[in-house]
Amino acid sequence: MRFMTAEPFRIKMVERLKKTTKEQRQQWLKEARYNAFQIKAENVYIDCITDSGTSAMSSEQWSALMLGDESYAGSKSFYKLEASVQDIFGMPYVQPTHQGRAADYIMAKLYAKEGKFAIGNMHFDTFRGNAEVLGALAVDYVVDNGKDTASQPHPFKGNIDITKIERLIEEKGPEQVSVVIITVTCNNNGGQPVSMKNIREVSNLAKSHNIPVVIDAARLSENAYFIQQREEGYKNKSIKEITREMFSYCETATMSSKKDGLVNIGGLFVTRNEEILKHAQQLAIVHEGFITYGGLAGRDLEALAVGLQEGVDEQYLEYRINQAKYLGDRLMESGVPIIEPTGGHGVYVDGRRFFPHIPQSEFPSQRLVVALYEEAGVRAVELGACAFGAKDPITGKDIYPDVEAMRIALSRRVYTNSHMDVIANALGEIYRNRDQYKGMKLVYEGPITSLRHFTAGFELL
Ligand SMILES: *Cc1c(COP(=O)(O)O)cnc(C)c1O
Repeated sequence: MRFMTAEPFRIKMVERLKKTTKEQRQQWLKEARYNAFQIKAENVYIDCITDSGTSAMSSEQWSALMLGDESYAGSKSFYKLEASVQDIFGMPYVQPTHQGRAADYIMAKLYAKEGKFAIGNMHFDTFRGNAEVLGALAVDYVVDNGKDTASQPHPFKGNIDITKIERLIEEKGPEQVSVVIITVTCNNNGGQPVSMKNIREVSNLAKSHNIPVVIDAARLSENAYFIQQREEGYKNKSIKEITREMFSYCETATMSSKKDGLVNIGGLFVTRNEEILKHAQQLAIVHEGFITYGGLAGRDLEALAVGLQEGVDEQYLEYRINQAKYLGDRLMESGVPIIEPTGGHGVYVDGRRFFPHIPQSEFPSQRLVVALYEEAGVRAVELGACAFGAKDPITGKDIYPDVEAMRIALSRRVYTNSHMDVIANALGEIYRNRDQYKGMKLVYEGPITSLRHFTAGFELL
């Protein structure tokens, strides 16, 4: 709409940001051993390391906080949250948890089985970790062009490749697959959406073999908005009609409410299976808290009940998805290579195409993270050779991932499009000078390779 492209909210309370000098940032980088996770947040101007738990709450949410009922059992706030979740998910049973990973843990305990396959588009790391501890085989069956950062734009790069599931079932037998988990949107390849058609077809296939389907729903409303905008037959459906249809195809859903729940903490385990609910409640009591609070304060339940509804508001979603697109378009104007089309919660810059002279063994995306902080005080995160790299268990040789990117994650309702311009201008400048950059060397990694990106230390080459 002409004249209506700005943020659909106004700012009532502000949080001051510190502007720093390049010399200061170079010093802090050195102290952090060039790892963005080790930089103090107060020394960051625009923080795009994650979109998790960083949303700005609305005045309605802040006022709901005051209504929090802190009763141990049967809190009024729980019933408000339950009604809000039922409304959006169209599913009956709700168990809150303290974060998404706690819901993942409960789900893994109930659906991942030792020696059996857990199929996903791209499993989120916390589920993968839980599944591997339980001895399950977590496999990623995202469509091929969802893995290749340079591939052609496709409206639903988060889809699962159904032929790969069929092949696995044919080769190993359906009883070797314990669960199919669809992550919406698909975080690991750029917040790319999954189509309704794909969810329906995967679900039909799984059902015909008695395999349960779970949806990891951290970004449920962003996915629903993409379906409304891009998939035939959904243009005139409301976001809630779309979310309810999405969940009609699964037995259970987990959610990190730190994303589309528009709150700073919390998670959900939602199911239509009463037996599963009973087990989930037992696990919640042991690990989280009583079933009507699940590790959260009553006020957190209130804020989430409101936040979920604000998250499915179409004007909000239009702004949200178009802010990522705006940044992506501005970057492409300067020639900066990104994963196309832009996804829901950020922009992924292709490290290999940005620095073609820096091999994956010298961490091109990490080098870009360092350059962006050094030049502009903007903090992004590497999702490439460091975060997803592995070692061959037999030869000890390094294995490099398909995705080699720097993710610029966008917090919800936090930064304006002027902040996007700062990011785009800085990256444009770095891109013009790209030949002057050399790679990096990993000089420290923690004991667990799959978690090394949080604590790794680097040197510049
Ligand atoms: C963030 C996230 C999780 C884990 O949730 P936390 O609240 O961070 O524990 C699980 N799955 C997906 C897809 C996520 O984005």
